[in-house]
Amino acid sequence: LAVWSQVPQAPEDAIFKLTYAYKADQYDRKVNLGVGAYRDDDGKPWVLPSVKQAQTALIADESVDHEYLSITGLAEFTSSAAKLILGGDSAAIAEKRVASVQTISGTGANHLGAVFLSRFYGFEKFGVERQIYISNPTWANHKAIFNSVGIKPVDYPYYDPKTIALDFEGFTNTLRSAKNQSIFLLHACAHNPTGVDPTPEQWQQIADIFVEKGHFAFFDCAYQGFASGDLDRDAGAVRHFVARKSIPLLICQSFAKNAGLYGERVGALHVVSATPEQSAAVLSQLAVIQRSEISNPPAFGARVVKMILTEPKLYAQWQADVKKMAGRIIDMRQRLFDLLTKQLKTPGNWDHILKQIGMFTFLGLDTDQCKRLLEEGHIYLTANSRISMAGLTTKNVEYVAGWIDKVVR
Ligand code: PMP
Repeated sequence: LAVWSQVPQAPEDAIFKLTYAYKADQYDRKVNLGVGAYRDDDGKPWVLPSVKQAQTALIADESVDHEYLSITGLAEFTSSAAKLILGGDSAAIAEKRVASVQTISGTGANHLGAVFLSRFYGFEKFGVERQIYISNPTWANHKAIFNSVGIKPVDYPYYDPKTIALDFEGFTNTLRSAKNQSIFLLHACAHNPTGVDPTPEQWQQIADIFVEKGHFAFFDCAYQGFASGDLDRDAGAVRHFVARKSIPLLICQSFAKNAGLYGERVGALHVVSATPEQSAAVLSQLAVIQRSEISNPPAFGARVVKMILTEPKLYAQWQADVKKMAGRIIDMRQRLFDLLTKQLKTPGNWDHILKQIGMFTFLGLDTDQCKRLLEEGHIYLTANSRISMAGLTTKNVEYVAGWIDKVVR
């Protein structure tokens, strides 16, 4: 029975470890700003009204059974999900150049995309290393996902701690100096963990370099709607790249955050090709990979999202739901900013709290300050000073602001 004696203990996942520590904490004013999941103003998970209506209808529908979906998933879900990200008037969809597969949420889309690239991207042909450029910093799982399929993650400059903003020059310099036809991972909107996105003008300049260099864009879109509250606006960067036609790309799409379907694992991978023939071949290979990994994706969440995306009344409700979530987060940014700058007169510049986009704010505190917030303030956040704005409420924002003020003085 010593077969596993050589297996070393792996470290715990940093984010989930934080949640366990928060749950075990007995202090009554504790605050969890660690995990990126939306909470309402009472700090509770929120089932979106649009989702509730769709699931109630589904449960009541006696024709719904529990048969397997097809290997590539629920066709009406994947086609409507493609329209959501690419736009209802997308030329790429009309020209049948988009291969879409239902995945195990955004993580599964990233993984399937990574396996596909590892098998079919022309690394040798193009004379590029088996690597992908990822922003520094990025969602921690990106590194693990690409490492696990033998594609080496390499950092590109993205966030400048001095300005607490985008290092546009560093980023574009790396785009220019990388070998032609390199792969770059881009966060479509609401960058995790920094909350720092390029402006629409900067996206255009980035796209120009992709065209010039023949780079491949690996878009990860986990927060459509969360950045601005507007689903179309948050798809702007992706749609701009697709409209350029000559940029090879794929998009990983998650409905965890914007539909609050975290545990249902609803997502999709969309690969855009140059011709319908290539697209059909791509889809066939994605299906081969999917078959060996999960056979078929789960049905329930995909049915819920399909209903929301295809029934106009539910879609309108969902748009309002997304707006409400984004609006509460934007409101929390303003409150935290006002408390620090007007009420507490906390030293330093806090403009980045308002400027950053989406679920997260990078406060710009050092590790010791973060440690004090956690150990003395019972405020749970990651050591890089990322806080989930969704963890703030009208009831705890003053408490949190007070502690930030205390640790920076
Ligand atoms: N990409 C990014 C950048 C994310 O932040 C997340 C969620 N934390 C995901 C992908 C995937 O999440 P999920 O698998 O829950 O859709």
